[in-house]
Amino acid sequence: MNRTAMITGASRGIGRAMAEAFAAAGYDLVLTCLHQIEELNKLGQELEQTYGISCCRSVADAGDYEAVAALFARIKRLDVLVNNAGIAHMGLLQDMTPQQWRRIMATHLDGCFYTCRQAIPLMLAQGSGHILNISSVWGSVGASMEVAYSAAKGGVNTFTRALARELAPSHIQVNAIACGVIDTDMNRCLSDEELELLRREIPADRLGTPGEVASLALQLVQSPGYLTGQVITLDGGWY
Ligand code: NAD
Repeated sequence: MNRTAMITGASRGIGRAMAEAFAAAGYDLVLTCLHQIEELNKLGQELEQTYGISCCRSVADAGDYEAVAALFARIKRLDVLVNNAGIAHMGLLQDMTPQQWRRIMATHLDGCFYTCRQAIPLMLAQGSGHILNISSVWGSVGASMEVAYSAAKGGVNTFTRALARELAPSHIQVNAIACGVIDTDMNRCLSDEELELLRREIPADRLGTPGEVASLALQLVQSPGYLTGQVITLDGGWY
């Protein structure tokens, strides 16, 4: 029986690259997204045909507990949970509406709680599991014009460390990857000039790729069980 990995927000970007990496490693997949379900279905079919794995895919809002619970009702086993679904919001905090604030918190932070709330009983029954949260360098240093996003990712980092302590006695690893600037559609709102300015700040002299995040994710879930509670920065030496 194949191991199973759930990856939220897998229709494009980092989540899509992780779906490809985990399928290539022989995992059955449970993939979600909020938008681009056609792309997710196409990806799932390609991965099933190429790697002979099974791939369940659905629209499930990470910030909606009922939707997450309905998704888990279809799952019997889960070895890896990757909380990757995310959205950006750029603008001054004083211009942000409470609804926009709530949306950021719901997607990033509530979403981690909702999936973990459902995944932990499955992993406890198996006696093993790995939870991996995709965070950001802004979660530790904070970004002007992205206060809500920074606060949510800071919450994800502390959520990761605290849950790791809670679950270490049960042999469930909990870690996070704090990404720097990764070349995905999330950053398409930045102009070429803004991206160039960012590139110049990064010692590696380039943006990261979704494939690099996926490669690290796969290595982390294959790491010794003693590696838990870590927020690992992947940012080309930026911070
Ligand atoms: P992306 O915009 O390319 O893809 C986001 C994915 O999340 C899509 O599949 C989308 O459908 C899904 N999604 C959005 N809201 C959702 C919701 N409520 N429920 C379920 N799915 C939802 O973004 P990306 O760059 O691949 O980002 C992936 C993760 O990496 C996010 O958590 C993001 O915060 C984090 N991250 C990205 C960067 C970067 O530079 N790209 C940097 C640091 C952290």
